[in-house]
Amino acid sequence: MSKSVQIIDLTEKYGANNYHPLPIVISKAEGVWVEDPEGNKYMDMLSAYSAVNQGHRHPKIIAALKEQADKITLTSRAFHNDQLGPWYEKVSKLTGKEMVLPMNTGAEAVETAVKTVRRWAYDVKGVPADQAEIIVCEENFHGRTMTAVSMSSSEEYKRGFGPMLPGIKVIPFGNLEALKQAITPNTAAFIFEPIQGEAGIHIPEDGFLKAAYDICKENNVLYVADEIQAGLGRSGKLFACDWEDVKPDMYILGKALGGGVFPISCVAADKDVLGVFEPGSHGSTFGGNPLACAVSIAALDVLVDEKLSDRSLELGSYMQDRLREIDNPVIKEVRGKGLFIGLELTESARPYCEKLKEEGLLCKETHETVIRFAPPLVISKEDLDWAIEKVKKVLS
Ligand code: PLP
Repeated sequence: MSKSVQIIDLTEKYGANNYHPLPIVISKAEGVWVEDPEGNKYMDMLSAYSAVNQGHRHPKIIAALKEQADKITLTSRAFHNDQLGPWYEKVSKLTGKEMVLPMNTGAEAVETAVKTVRRWAYDVKGVPADQAEIIVCEENFHGRTMTAVSMSSSEEYKRGFGPMLPGIKVIPFGNLEALKQAITPNTAAFIFEPIQGEAGIHIPEDGFLKAAYDICKENNVLYVADEIQAGLGRSGKLFACDWEDVKPDMYILGKALGGGVFPISCVAADKDVLGVFEPGSHGSTFGGNPLACAVSIAALDVLVDEKLSDRSLELGSYMQDRLREIDNPVIKEVRGKGLFIGLELTESARPYCEKLKEEGLLCKETHETVIRFAPPLVISKEDLDWAIEKVKKVLS
């Protein structure tokens, strides 16, 4: 029995059955390449759902991790640590927001956003107690906590987990009229993904992000962008909202914030919004820990210094054009922004992902019929050409 088979058996024997991974074990990685225990190499076309935008084990991020690990890793927030302040400053400058609140995972940052906008509704906007409403979009993905699944329109994500959090209204993604209709005097916020990743790379029509922003401003509703997957270079801009030059009231960030090395997430907003917290009202033992902050500082430096947004834009347009050349009626649509690309099929995408794996390309289907292509943004043109040839071979 191969090492890989043994590992998969062990994983399936003891693990809860909440995932359905492709049958491959990854035991090593560097840049865009990963390796199984038998020494077979594959190209990573998923980037851990965009957490590895900077590439696997980027040397500068790993150096920051090691250096910090030799000093101090966790203080809790009962004491100050010397990495949190510099990290705050970096995220504040990058987002243009006055304040930052650190958490660990994306879903926790979404929780934080929901708590913030509800408090803002009561303390600032003057919504009557416990009446605050939040508007979200159909087919959203904001994570797996109770708040995040309460926001979801997917029955599969909710079944058996009720009762759900009240005060949430769901509108069709990209529908301005529905947004207007859903707003009441009690609306705290519109929370949305500027590009829906898990839904299958759904891109709203041009003008939606800006028009939705204007509607929110007219109605004193906070405009909160979940940029956990679409942000930090993935869409070909630093933030996906930059496509329409919109500055949200709040950014929700995660994934690539830790360079795929250490979990860290946050919300960033101005003082009039994020100033609603006082000591004791929110927190996390690991949130803002020095190891995560040191790693994140390096991860953001890599993103900026290596101009990964620009690379994503350039190589993404190139890849989309090449994919559109494939002449096969099974392909319904190729869509994307930067290296955030969905290839929608008229049939199940899983068998194609399995064939791509045989060719050395690791992709994962999303929502049955869509193959998502989201390689690390450090990918070279040569490696991308290699990948495109494999996709052409499997899909032609
Ligand atoms: N929000 C978006 C847009 C996401 O894509 C994800 C994860 O895929 C999350 C939130 C949840 O992040 P995490 O899995 O780190 O909790």
